[in-house]
Amino acid sequence: MAEGPIQPEASMLLTKHMEPLLALTAQGLYCPIGDFFIDPWGKVDKAIITHAHSDHARAGHRSYLCHTDTAPLLKQRLGEHIQVETLQYGETVSIGGVQISLHPAGHVIGSAQVRLSFRGQVWVVSGDYKVVDDGLTPAFEPVRCHVFVTESTFGLPVYRWAPQAILQQRMLTWIQEVHQQEQIPILIGYSLGKAQRLLYLLKETGLHCWLHPSIYAIHETLITHRPELSQKFPPVHLFQPPGRRQELQHGVLLIPPAARESQWLHRLEPCSIAYCSGWMQIRGHARQRGADAAFALSDHADWPGLLAAIEATGAEEVWVTHGYAHTLARYLRETKQISARDLLSPFAEEMEE
Ligand SMILES: [Zn+2]
Ligand SMILES: [Zn+2]
Repeated sequence: MAEGPIQPEASMLLTKHMEPLLALTAQGLYCPIGDFFIDPWGKVDKAIITHAHSDHARAGHRSYLCHTDTAPLLKQRLGEHIQVETLQYGETVSIGGVQISLHPAGHVIGSAQVRLSFRGQVWVVSGDYKVVDDGLTPAFEPVRCHVFVTESTFGLPVYRWAPQAILQQRMLTWIQEVHQQEQIPILIGYSLGKAQRLLYLLKETGLHCWLHPSIYAIHETLITHRPELSQKFPPVHLFQPPGRRQELQHGVLLIPPAARESQWLHRLEPCSIAYCSGWMQIRGHARQRGADAAFALSDHADWPGLLAAIEATGAEEVWVTHGYAHTLARYLRETKQISARDLLSPFAEEMEE
Protein backbone atom coordinates (compact mmCIF):
# COMPACT_ATOMS: atom_id res chain seq x y z
CA MET A 1 0.00 0.00 0.00
CA ALA A 2 1.27 3.47 -0.75
CA GLU A 3 1.86 5.57 2.32
CA GLY A 4 2.74 9.20 2.86
CA PRO A 5 6.38 10.29 2.88
CA ILE A 6 8.37 8.91 5.80
CA GLN A 7 9.59 11.60 8.19
CA PRO A 8 13.38 11.17 8.48
CA GLU A 9 13.48 11.58 12.29
CA ALA A 10 10.67 9.11 12.86
CA SER A 11 12.15 6.52 10.52
CA MET A 12 15.62 6.82 12.09
CA LEU A 13 14.04 6.00 15.43
CA LEU A 14 12.25 3.06 13.94
CA THR A 15 15.27 1.23 12.58
CA LYS A 16 17.41 2.07 15.62
CA HIS A 17 15.03 0.81 18.26
CA MET A 18 13.07 -1.92 16.56
CA GLU A 19 13.80 -5.49 15.79
CA PRO A 20 14.66 -5.98 12.09
CA LEU A 21 11.81 -7.57 10.15
CA LEU A 22 14.20 -9.60 8.02
CA ALA A 23 17.56 -11.28 8.42
CA LEU A 24 19.70 -13.10 5.89
CA THR A 25 20.18 -16.71 7.00
CA ALA A 26 21.82 -19.74 5.41
CA GLN A 27 18.41 -20.61 3.93
CA GLY A 28 17.61 -17.14 2.64
CA LEU A 29 15.71 -14.04 3.78
CA TYR A 30 13.94 -14.85 7.05
CA CYS A 31 11.36 -12.97 9.11
CA PRO A 32 11.94 -14.01 12.75
CA ILE A 33 8.76 -12.33 14.04
CA GLY A 34 6.47 -14.12 11.58
CA ASP A 35 8.68 -17.23 11.24
CA PHE A 36 8.62 -17.36 7.43
CA PHE A 37 11.06 -17.01 4.55
CA ILE A 38 10.93 -15.11 1.25
CA ASP A 39 12.22 -17.00 -1.85
CA PRO A 40 14.34 -19.32 0.34
CA TRP A 41 16.92 -21.63 -1.18
CA GLY A 42 16.94 -24.08 1.74
CA LYS A 43 13.91 -26.25 2.56
CA VAL A 44 11.64 -24.42 5.02
CA ASP A 45 8.21 -24.58 6.65
CA LYS A 46 6.70 -21.38 5.30
CA ALA A 47 7.88 -19.74 2.07
CA ILE A 48 6.54 -16.60 0.46
CA ILE A 49 7.40 -16.80 -3.24
CA THR A 50 7.78 -13.64 -5.34
CA HIS A 51 7.42 -15.43 -8.72
CA ALA A 52 7.71 -18.80 -10.42
CA HIS A 53 11.28 -18.59 -11.80
CA SER A 54 13.34 -21.52 -10.54
CA ASP A 55 15.92 -19.44 -8.67
CA HIS A 56 13.11 -18.01 -6.53
CA ALA A 57 10.60 -20.86 -6.31
CA ARG A 58 12.27 -24.02 -5.10
CA ALA A 59 10.92 -27.46 -4.29
CA GLY A 60 10.64 -28.93 -0.81
CA HIS A 61 8.97 -26.23 1.30
CA ARG A 62 6.09 -27.35 3.53
CA SER A 63 3.84 -24.45 2.47
CA TYR A 64 3.90 -21.71 -0.16
CA LEU A 65 2.28 -18.30 -0.29
CA CYS A 66 2.27 -16.46 -3.62
CA HIS A 67 0.18 -14.38 -6.02
CA THR A 68 -2.91 -16.04 -7.52
CA ASP A 69 -1.35 -16.10 -11.01
CA THR A 70 1.86 -17.72 -9.74
CA ALA A 71 0.12 -20.68 -8.06
CA PRO A 72 -0.67 -22.69 -11.24
CA LEU A 73 2.89 -22.13 -12.50
CA LEU A 74 4.31 -23.34 -9.17
CA LYS A 75 2.16 -26.46 -9.30
CA GLN A 76 3.21 -27.14 -12.87
CA ARG A 77 6.89 -26.87 -11.92
CA LEU A 78 6.88 -28.41 -8.44
CA GLY A 79 3.88 -30.77 -8.55
CA GLU A 80 0.14 -30.62 -7.86
CA HIS A 81 0.72 -31.91 -4.32
CA ILE A 82 2.37 -28.75 -2.97
CA GLN A 83 0.44 -26.74 -0.40
CA VAL A 84 -0.17 -23.25 -1.81
CA GLU A 85 -2.06 -20.27 -0.48
CA THR A 86 -2.59 -17.25 -2.67
CA LEU A 87 -3.13 -13.50 -2.43
CA GLN A 88 -4.30 -10.93 -4.94
CA TYR A 89 -2.30 -7.73 -5.29
CA GLY A 90 -3.06 -5.45 -2.34
CA GLU A 91 -4.78 -8.16 -0.27
CA THR A 92 -3.40 -8.49 3.28
CA VAL A 93 -2.76 -11.52 5.45
CA SER A 94 -1.26 -11.66 8.95
CA ILE A 95 1.40 -14.19 9.90
CA GLY A 96 2.60 -14.04 13.52
CA GLY A 97 1.40 -10.44 13.74
CA VAL A 98 3.27 -9.35 10.59
CA GLN A 99 0.95 -7.87 7.97
CA ILE A 100 1.86 -9.21 4.54
CA SER A 101 0.68 -7.96 1.16
CA LEU A 102 1.81 -8.47 -2.43
CA HIS A 103 2.28 -5.67 -4.97
CA PRO A 104 2.95 -5.72 -8.72
CA ALA A 105 6.62 -6.19 -9.64
CA GLY A 106 6.04 -6.04 -13.42
CA HIS A 107 8.61 -8.81 -13.98
CA VAL A 108 6.57 -11.76 -15.30
CA ILE A 109 2.92 -12.77 -14.96
CA GLY A 110 2.20 -13.33 -11.26
CA SER A 111 5.37 -11.61 -10.02
CA ALA A 112 5.03 -9.68 -6.78
CA GLN A 113 6.91 -7.52 -4.33
CA VAL A 114 6.35 -8.54 -0.73
CA ARG A 115 5.42 -5.81 1.74
CA LEU A 116 5.86 -6.56 5.45
CA SER A 117 4.47 -4.28 8.11
CA PHE A 118 4.89 -4.64 11.88
CA ARG A 119 4.34 -1.97 14.55
CA GLY A 120 4.86 0.91 12.14
CA GLN A 121 7.90 -0.59 10.40
CA VAL A 122 7.52 -1.31 6.68
CA TRP A 123 9.89 -3.48 4.68
CA VAL A 124 9.52 -4.38 1.01
CA VAL A 125 11.26 -7.22 -0.83
CA SER A 126 11.20 -6.51 -4.56
CA GLY A 127 11.85 -9.98 -5.97
CA ASP A 128 12.75 -9.49 -9.64
CA TYR A 129 11.16 -6.42 -11.22
CA LYS A 130 11.06 -4.18 -14.25
CA VAL A 131 9.65 -0.68 -14.43
CA VAL A 132 8.59 -0.85 -18.10
CA ASP A 133 4.88 -1.65 -18.51
CA ASP A 134 4.91 -4.75 -20.74
CA GLY A 135 1.15 -4.77 -21.34
CA LEU A 136 0.82 -8.28 -19.91
CA THR A 137 1.23 -7.97 -16.18
CA PRO A 138 0.33 -5.00 -13.93
CA ALA A 139 3.16 -2.46 -13.96
CA PHE A 140 5.66 -2.17 -11.10
CA GLU A 141 4.11 -0.32 -8.17
CA PRO A 142 6.45 1.78 -6.02
CA VAL A 143 5.67 1.01 -2.37
CA ARG A 144 6.84 3.40 0.35
CA CYS A 145 8.93 1.64 2.98
CA HIS A 146 11.70 2.05 5.55
CA VAL A 147 13.84 -0.78 4.19
CA PHE A 148 13.80 -1.90 0.54
CA VAL A 149 15.39 -5.17 -0.53
CA THR A 150 16.12 -4.77 -4.24
CA GLU A 151 17.45 -7.05 -6.96
CA SER A 152 20.33 -5.80 -9.12
CA THR A 153 20.56 -8.22 -12.07
CA PHE A 154 21.41 -5.36 -14.44
CA GLY A 155 22.87 -3.04 -11.82
CA LEU A 156 25.60 -1.52 -13.98
CA PRO A 157 25.37 1.87 -15.77
CA VAL A 158 25.94 0.17 -19.15
CA TYR A 159 22.50 -1.43 -19.00
CA ARG A 160 19.95 0.99 -20.48
CA TRP A 161 17.07 -0.47 -22.45
CA ALA A 162 15.76 0.97 -25.70
CA PRO A 163 12.01 1.65 -25.59
CA GLN A 164 9.89 -1.47 -26.06
CA ALA A 165 8.28 -0.11 -29.27
CA ILE A 166 11.71 0.33 -30.87
CA LEU A 167 12.84 -3.17 -29.91
CA GLN A 168 9.57 -4.48 -31.32
CA GLN A 169 10.09 -2.64 -34.61
CA ARG A 170 13.65 -3.99 -34.92
CA MET A 171 12.43 -7.49 -34.26
CA LEU A 172 9.59 -7.33 -36.79
CA THR A 173 11.94 -5.92 -39.44
CA TRP A 174 14.41 -8.72 -38.75
CA ILE A 175 11.68 -11.38 -39.08
CA GLN A 176 10.59 -9.88 -42.39
CA GLU A 177 14.15 -9.97 -43.74
CA VAL A 178 14.64 -13.55 -42.59
CA HIS A 179 11.43 -14.60 -44.33
CA GLN A 180 12.51 -12.82 -47.51
CA GLN A 181 15.67 -14.95 -47.48
CA GLU A 182 13.43 -18.01 -47.12
CA GLN A 183 14.89 -18.82 -43.75
CA ILE A 184 13.15 -19.74 -40.50
CA PRO A 185 13.31 -17.06 -37.79
CA ILE A 186 14.02 -18.59 -34.38
CA LEU A 187 13.68 -16.46 -31.25
CA ILE A 188 15.42 -17.61 -28.08
CA GLY A 189 13.88 -16.50 -24.81
CA TYR A 190 13.19 -17.85 -21.35
CA SER A 191 9.98 -19.95 -21.15
CA LEU A 192 8.33 -17.93 -18.39
CA GLY A 193 8.25 -14.21 -19.00
CA LYS A 194 10.25 -13.62 -22.16
CA ALA A 195 8.24 -16.04 -24.29
CA GLN A 196 4.92 -14.39 -23.37
CA ARG A 197 6.40 -10.97 -24.08
CA LEU A 198 7.63 -12.07 -27.48
CA LEU A 199 4.20 -13.42 -28.34
CA TYR A 200 2.62 -10.16 -27.22
CA LEU A 201 5.02 -8.14 -29.40
CA LEU A 202 4.37 -10.45 -32.38
CA LYS A 203 0.59 -10.34 -32.11
CA GLU A 204 0.05 -7.49 -34.55
CA THR A 205 1.91 -9.36 -37.32
CA GLY A 206 -0.67 -12.14 -37.30
CA LEU A 207 2.23 -14.56 -37.86
CA HIS A 208 1.75 -18.09 -36.63
CA CYS A 209 4.07 -18.84 -33.71
CA TRP A 210 5.40 -22.31 -33.02
CA LEU A 211 6.34 -22.98 -29.42
CA HIS A 212 8.94 -25.38 -28.05
CA PRO A 213 7.22 -27.85 -25.65
CA SER A 214 8.50 -26.13 -22.48
CA ILE A 215 7.17 -22.76 -23.70
CA TYR A 216 3.93 -24.36 -24.89
CA ALA A 217 3.35 -25.98 -21.48
CA ILE A 218 3.60 -22.63 -19.69
CA HIS A 219 1.40 -21.00 -22.33
CA GLU A 220 -1.28 -23.66 -21.77
CA THR A 221 -1.14 -23.24 -18.00
CA LEU A 222 -1.52 -19.47 -18.26
CA ILE A 223 -4.37 -19.63 -20.77
CA THR A 224 -6.22 -22.26 -18.75
CA HIS A 225 -5.93 -20.13 -15.61
CA ARG A 226 -6.60 -16.78 -17.34
CA PRO A 227 -8.46 -17.43 -20.64
CA GLU A 228 -8.67 -13.70 -21.46
CA LEU A 229 -4.87 -13.65 -21.90
CA SER A 230 -5.24 -15.45 -25.23
CA GLN A 231 -6.50 -12.16 -26.72
CA LYS A 232 -3.01 -10.74 -26.18
CA PHE A 233 -1.28 -13.46 -28.18
CA PRO A 234 -1.09 -14.44 -31.86
CA PRO A 235 -2.12 -17.95 -33.01
CA VAL A 236 0.22 -20.52 -31.42
CA HIS A 237 1.06 -24.15 -32.14
CA LEU A 238 3.06 -26.81 -30.38
CA PHE A 239 6.40 -27.49 -32.06
CA GLN A 240 7.37 -31.06 -31.24
CA PRO A 241 11.09 -31.60 -31.98
CA PRO A 242 12.50 -32.63 -34.35
CA GLY A 243 9.47 -31.22 -36.18
CA ARG A 244 9.21 -30.47 -39.88
CA ARG A 245 10.83 -27.46 -41.47
CA GLN A 246 7.90 -27.12 -43.85
CA GLU A 247 5.37 -26.35 -41.13
CA LEU A 248 7.45 -23.44 -39.85
CA GLN A 249 7.60 -21.63 -43.18
CA HIS A 250 6.22 -18.07 -42.90
CA GLY A 251 5.99 -18.55 -39.13
CA VAL A 252 8.25 -17.96 -36.14
CA LEU A 253 9.72 -20.54 -33.77
CA LEU A 254 10.24 -19.74 -30.08
CA ILE A 255 12.66 -21.87 -28.08
CA PRO A 256 14.21 -21.53 -24.59
CA PRO A 257 17.98 -20.97 -24.18
CA ALA A 258 18.42 -24.58 -23.01
CA ALA A 259 17.33 -25.85 -26.46
CA ARG A 260 20.03 -23.86 -28.30
CA GLU A 261 22.42 -26.81 -28.62
CA SER A 262 19.77 -29.33 -29.71
CA GLN A 263 20.67 -31.51 -32.69
CA TRP A 264 17.22 -31.08 -34.26
CA LEU A 265 17.91 -27.37 -34.82
CA HIS A 266 20.18 -28.36 -37.73
CA ARG A 267 17.20 -29.91 -39.50
CA LEU A 268 15.58 -26.48 -39.65
CA GLU A 269 18.45 -24.89 -41.59
CA PRO A 270 18.63 -22.49 -43.25
CA CYS A 271 17.40 -20.64 -40.20
CA SER A 272 18.34 -17.43 -38.42
CA ILE A 273 18.63 -17.31 -34.63
CA ALA A 274 18.04 -14.29 -32.39
CA TYR A 275 18.62 -14.06 -28.64
CA CYS A 276 16.17 -11.92 -26.68
CA SER A 277 17.70 -10.97 -23.35
CA GLY A 278 18.99 -8.00 -21.41
CA TRP A 279 22.46 -9.55 -21.62
CA MET A 280 22.39 -8.77 -25.36
CA GLN A 281 23.05 -5.12 -24.47
CA ILE A 282 26.71 -6.20 -24.51
CA ARG A 283 27.60 -7.02 -28.11
CA GLY A 284 30.09 -9.74 -27.20
CA HIS A 285 27.38 -11.80 -25.49
CA ALA A 286 25.48 -12.32 -28.75
CA ARG A 287 28.65 -13.22 -30.63
CA GLN A 288 29.73 -15.72 -27.96
CA ARG A 289 26.43 -17.51 -28.33
CA GLY A 290 26.67 -17.69 -32.10
CA ALA A 291 23.51 -15.66 -32.60
CA ASP A 292 22.58 -14.13 -35.96
CA ALA A 293 20.71 -11.32 -34.23
CA ALA A 294 20.12 -10.07 -30.70
CA PHE A 295 17.48 -7.97 -29.00
CA ALA A 296 18.13 -6.50 -25.55
CA LEU A 297 14.60 -7.14 -24.36
CA SER A 298 14.62 -7.60 -20.61
CA ASP A 299 12.19 -8.45 -17.83
CA HIS A 300 14.43 -6.70 -15.31
CA ALA A 301 14.94 -3.02 -14.55
CA ASP A 302 17.89 -1.36 -16.28
CA TRP A 303 20.28 0.93 -14.37
CA PRO A 304 18.09 4.07 -14.52
CA GLY A 305 15.05 1.90 -13.74
CA LEU A 306 16.68 0.47 -10.61
CA LEU A 307 17.66 3.92 -9.36
CA ALA A 308 14.19 5.36 -10.03
CA ALA A 309 12.46 2.42 -8.34
CA ILE A 310 14.69 2.64 -5.27
CA GLU A 311 14.17 6.38 -4.97
CA ALA A 312 10.39 6.03 -5.28
CA THR A 313 10.25 3.78 -2.21
CA GLY A 314 11.65 6.58 -0.02
CA ALA A 315 13.59 3.85 1.83
CA GLU A 316 16.25 5.02 4.28
CA GLU A 317 17.98 1.67 4.04
CA VAL A 318 18.44 -0.53 0.97
CA TRP A 319 19.61 -4.12 0.82
CA VAL A 320 20.89 -5.12 -2.61
CA THR A 321 20.82 -8.71 -3.81
CA HIS A 322 20.75 -10.90 -6.96
CA GLY A 323 23.24 -9.45 -9.43
CA TYR A 324 25.68 -6.53 -9.30
CA ALA A 325 24.86 -6.01 -5.62
CA HIS A 326 28.26 -4.63 -4.67
CA THR A 327 28.36 -2.00 -7.43
CA LEU A 328 24.81 -0.80 -6.91
CA ALA A 329 25.10 -0.70 -3.10
CA ARG A 330 28.29 1.35 -3.33
CA TYR A 331 26.70 3.76 -5.81
CA LEU A 332 23.71 4.27 -3.50
CA ARG A 333 25.99 4.98 -0.53
CA GLU A 334 28.40 7.28 -2.31
CA THR A 335 26.13 9.14 -4.73
CA LYS A 336 22.68 9.00 -3.17
CA GLN A 337 23.73 8.96 0.51
CA ILE A 338 21.43 5.99 1.11
CA SER A 339 22.46 3.46 3.71
CA ALA A 340 22.93 0.43 1.45
CA ARG A 341 24.43 -3.02 1.91
CA ASP A 342 24.94 -5.86 -0.52
CA LEU A 343 23.67 -9.31 0.34
CA LEU A 344 25.38 -12.32 -1.08
CA SER A 345 23.07 -14.86 -2.64
CA PRO A 346 24.49 -18.19 -3.73
CA PHE A 347 23.01 -18.23 -7.22
CA ALA A 348 23.88 -16.45 -10.43
CA GLU A 349 20.97 -14.79 -12.21
CA GLU A 350 22.11 -15.09 -15.78
CA MET A 351 20.06 -18.23 -16.42
CA GLU A 352 16.65 -16.64 -16.43
CA GLU A 353 17.23 -13.78 -18.81
ZN1 LIG B 1 12.76 -13.81 -12.29
ZN1 LIG C 1 15.68 -13.89 -10.33
